[in-house]
This record gives sequence, structure tokens and C-alpha cells, in this order.
Amino acid sequence: MSARHFDDNQSVWLAGKKPYTASPPLAGKLDVDVAIIGGGFTGVSTAYHLNARFPNKAVAILEARTLANGASGRNGGQMLNWVHGVDPEEPERARQIYDATQDGIDTVLSIIAEHGLDVPHDQSGHVDMFTDSKNADAAAEAAERWERAGLPVRFLEPKELGSLIAFDNTHGGLFDPRAGYLDGAAFLRELKPVLERRGVQIFENSVVSRIREGRVVELETEGGSVRADAIVLATNAYTPHLGYFRSGIVPVHSHVLATEPADPTTWSGLGFPRGLGFTDDRDRLSYGTLIGAPGTSRRLIFGGGSNEAYDYRFGNGTRYEHPSENAARANRRQLLSYFPSLRDVEISHRWSGAVALTLSRLCTMGVRGAHRNVYYAVGYSGHGVTLANLAGKILTDIYSDADERWRALPFFQQRLRYIPPEPFRFVGYHAYTRLVGRSPRAS
Ligand SMILES: Cc1cc2nc3c(=O)[nH]c(=O)nc-3n(C[C@H](O)[C@H](O)[C@H](O)COP(=O)(O)OP(=O)(O)OC[C@H]3O[C@@H](n4cnc5c(N)ncnc54)[C@H](O)[C@@H]3O)c2cc1C
Repeated sequence: MSARHFDDNQSVWLAGKKPYTASPPLAGKLDVDVAIIGGGFTGVSTAYHLNARFPNKAVAILEARTLANGASGRNGGQMLNWVHGVDPEEPERARQIYDATQDGIDTVLSIIAEHGLDVPHDQSGHVDMFTDSKNADAAAEAAERWERAGLPVRFLEPKELGSLIAFDNTHGGLFDPRAGYLDGAAFLRELKPVLERRGVQIFENSVVSRIREGRVVELETEGGSVRADAIVLATNAYTPHLGYFRSGIVPVHSHVLATEPADPTTWSGLGFPRGLGFTDDRDRLSYGTLIGAPGTSRRLIFGGGSNEAYDYRFGNGTRYEHPSENAARANRRQLLSYFPSLRDVEISHRWSGAVALTLSRLCTMGVRGAHRNVYYAVGYSGHGVTLANLAGKILTDIYSDADERWRALPFFQQRLRYIPPEPFRFVGYHAYTRLVGRSPRAS
């Protein structure tokens, strides 16, 4: 049995990694063309694409702790198509959105292949599973329209669904064969030397404490300062701490657990013959991802399913130090409600991370500021593995004035819906969640 990782709040992705040497923090003065704040998917993908397009520009990443410290190294791993917060009716609109996110997945896969990165991942598919018959009927209708638009997504009746994943009491599921999972911590840390070889400067343990906008933007960290022609806010749930998107993003702690590795018969007995991921259709949605190579011992990552699992704390939105016992119990209860036979499989890891929730669940990507030199991509609302990796391509296109392709997408320069400040936010969130049984949402 492997060690339990309950107290240090380390994700299964980070706990299993070989020892990591952080790059030195920023010391002294630095002048760059673009300074990127945050070393998650958004920051690293932006550095990657900017550098590929403009190899002679000086690009630096400033990361508060180490690469993958944030949600990118703490998530459920699901690399999904679609954009959270958007339900496209029109087949052409659906095709446009699906193709954009498929571009995100393809880009991740091609980066892994091109640089020979050692990154656990797969593309064995994903099921959106319906516990509500009305949701299932609507999804079946949508899938027919999407099929006519040439999308590979199919609605599977409960009987057909059983060949992929076995749930009791399901009304069917939407199967997307082109989704999969990604070990985000491995992806970012394997990409680091590639970026450094190409001249991107990476400073870890470098918290940006102040941003002064201007034609040249000035940043401060404890040990140094940066002057940059442009900056990128790649800080997702942490962005309000920097003074941006305070009324658009609520940082919510999302709690996850991982089982000990279990042999293939455990999972095929549960009805995971192909080892794919799933989500359900509840407001506090549950999700599960089977990770590891088929035919070997694999782990299930499982999260969500209750208010406790999506935990909003007053004034403490992005600290990780105290994953809650309540959340862990609630996660396990929900896990066993789906898979009672997992009762004897040990939980080896549990952790939490900060999700940047927006009121409509839609993220936003664009550029702002009097000098149009503050780029941002934030607010993925728990669905950012694909989109935050795509963000680098989109921000590079905006930076290059070549963004026509993205302008019609729903998140492009999207104005986030207003969320009141504390203490109204805290009181409103908890009152609504308790009374209505759902989290506040507006389209
Ligand atoms: C528990 C959990 C489960 C999830 N599951 C899924 C899933 O299965 N599928 C999916 O699609 N999405 C999922 N998500 C969401 C997804 O992981 C995120 O949307 C995505 O990783 C966001 O990437 P990012 O780079 O924008 O932000 P982050 O990965 O959070 O990176 C931001 C970085 O900025 C750094 N930073 C913050 N402040 C400063 C500062 N002042 N100075 C310097 N650096 C700073 C942080 O240390 C951090 O490393 C999940 C998220 C969580 C928390």
C-alpha cells in the first residue's frame, strides 16, 4: 500500500512525482517584452505559444510557488470538450465550440508528442451521465442535431452505456470519444525545460505583490521588480488578490480524492471496461477519472457531489492548508453511492484546489487596460484543463492582432456577471445554496 497523503493537501498528481527543483526566485530588476503571472496551464501555454511565434521576444513567467501549484496540478484530470456555461442550440454553433476545444486537446497531445514528454494521459473518451430523465431527453435531442453537424458525440441509452461504464438508475449518457485525461502536473513540469531551452525565463517562489499599469507595466515581487511591455494575468482563482475581476470571480475550494491503485478486475467489475471518465448532471456535479495504463493497477480520482465538496470560505478563497474532513467524508459517501463495491478500496490521497467560479460559469479571455497591454484568461469555473491550455494560443493570437478566429467564441472578451462583495457574497452564497439546494447561477 502506498503512503496516505491526507495532511499535506498534495494532489495525487504532485505526490507521485520525482523530486522537483524549483527555479530561483526573481532577484533584482528585469526588463521583458511579456511578463506572465502564474505558472499553471494558462501561464505556461501562453509562454509556449508566444515563444513559438516570437522567438526573439523576452518572455518571463513569475510563479508564486512552483509550476502546477494551483488548480492545474490539483484537478480531476478530465480533458473535456465544450465550454462550461454555454449550451449551444444551433448545430453550427455547437460545431464551432466543439472544434475550438478539440483544438485545445489536439494541441496538448501534439506538444506531448513533439517534445517526447513523459506525461500520463489518454483519449479514451468521456461520458456525461444523466440521473434526470428530462436532462437525458434534452441531451438525446441535442446529440441528434450535433450528429447532423458532424460531431462525434453520441447519446447512449442505458443499455448501450453499460458497455462503457455501468451505473444504476441512469437515464443514459452523452459519450464523447475525443475527450480524455491529462496529468497536468507532469505536463507543466515536463514542459519547463523545453521552455527554458528556448529562452523563456521562469522564476518560482516569486509572488507578484503589486502591478502598476502604464505603457510599460511594472511588477513587484519580494526580491525584485519587472518592467514589461505587456503582462498576462494567468492567475485564475487568485486573480482578485491582484485587484482584477473582484466582482466577477468567486474562488471556491473543490475537494477531490483518489483511491489506491486497484487491479483491472476491480474496475471491469465496476463497469469501466475502457477506463474512461464521467460526470453526472447534478448541480453539485460528481466526476470520476480512471487514471493509469489499461491492464495495469489504476486509480480512480473522484470529486464533487455535495455542497461540502464545493466549499466557499469567507475571505480565505485560495488557501490550501486545511482540506476539510467534512468534504472528504462527503466525497467518499458520494463515491460509494455510485460504486458500493469500492467500500474496501482504500483512499490514498485527498486534496483541494481553488476553482474560479463565475456567475454564468463562462470564462473570459482578452486584453484590457488603458494601454491594451494587460492580457487575461480567467474564470474557467472548474472546466479549464482544455480551455486554459487553449488560452495560450488565443492570447498569442490577440497579442499578434490575428484573433479573428476566436472573436465569435462565447468567452472572447466576455464581460463577467456582477457578483456582490463580501459580506453579501458569503451570506448570499450560503443562504441560496442551503435554501435552493443549488449554487447561485445566472446565464
Ligand atoms: C479540485 C479541482 C478539480 C478540477 N477538475 C477539473 C477537471 O477534471 N477538468 C477540467 O477541465 N478542469 C478542472 N478543474 C479546473 C482546472 O484545473 C483549472 O480551470 C485550470 O487548471 C486553470 O489553470 P490556470 O493556469 O488558469 O490556473 P492555476 O492552475 O490555478 O494557476 C494559477 C497560478 O498562479 C499562481 N499565482 C497566484 N497568484 C500569484 C501571484 N500573485 N504571483 C505569482 N503567481 C501567482 C498560483 O500559484 C498558480 O500556480 C479543476 C480544478 C480544481 C481545483
